[in-house]
Amino acid sequence: MLVSGVLLVLVSCFSRDVRAADWSYTGAHGADHWKDMFSTCGGKKQSPIDIQPAKIKDKSELGAFTLGAYDVESSPSWYQLINNGHTIQLNVLEGAGPLTVGGGGLKDTYILAQFHMHWGSVDCKGSEHTVDGMHFPMELHLVHYNSRYGNLSAALQKSDGLAVLGVMAEVGTKSHVALDKLIRQYSDLKYSDSKVPMGGTFKMIDLLPTNRFDFIRYNGSLTTPKCLEIVTWTVFREPIVISKTQLNALRAFSHNTANENTDTPLEDNFRPTLPLSGRIVLKTYTGTTKPLSKTCGAAGQNSSPMVYGVFFTVVVAWKSFRLL
Ligand SMILES: [Zn+2]
Repeated sequence: MLVSGVLLVLVSCFSRDVRAADWSYTGAHGADHWKDMFSTCGGKKQSPIDIQPAKIKDKSELGAFTLGAYDVESSPSWYQLINNGHTIQLNVLEGAGPLTVGGGGLKDTYILAQFHMHWGSVDCKGSEHTVDGMHFPMELHLVHYNSRYGNLSAALQKSDGLAVLGVMAEVGTKSHVALDKLIRQYSDLKYSDSKVPMGGTFKMIDLLPTNRFDFIRYNGSLTTPKCLEIVTWTVFREPIVISKTQLNALRAFSHNTANENTDTPLEDNFRPTLPLSGRIVLKTYTGTTKPLSKTCGAAGQNSSPMVYGVFFTVVVAWKSFRLL
């Protein structure tokens, strides 16, 4: 009786933990409700934000980034790939690198812990940060912890604990070579809770844009619960280019585990932008860089003037043909 009582308590504690961790991007546990489950998600320094370059008058001189081991061909033992149901993530294992970032206006040196991606079900959405309200189809986040705190867990307790490099991705005709080495392993990662060692090797620097001088900087939060406000954000101006095939490979992942009966695609895993609430955003460049795709239309499809123009022309041509 006592044993079953203890078991009941253990099971109910475990269930509560599972429920607390059970957040999603839509529905009852979606981004609008995170603040009800995790009070920190209702803070005033939340991420992502809408970047409005024209509103940032002055150009800041933050200097160049100093990257450590980013240009070293990795060993397969450095990384582990996981599907955690929310994203595809590459974890940096003990003994790797360390891959570091400093300079670029950062006050300390930060060590890479993991990178992961956010993407949309259609090309007109997917990135977390937006530029003048417009999404890129994908955004990559390289998450670093402050070397002063020794490890990621300790850094998560500190207001200057993390530095995240945000890289936008645009769709082009060619595959991204470094990303392809990860995508090759994706069949082993189809379902949530999958983990595989990194099979191939690549250089982390190849995931960054060529122009690493132009970026914006602000203080914000993690974009997933518990949304801790401990992130020094960098979002590069220049996107990397990935192919449509690579983007579709991301959309083929499952949000569910292999044991579940449903198979919901892992996509639209981005948090909507949050207000700046008086925060300062710095930029190191003049001008702007906007995504090629425009805002999503009613059907969630690209609604750029060109697409409407072609549609209009086709309708007019068809009506003209009918009149003949
Ligand atoms: Zn992220």
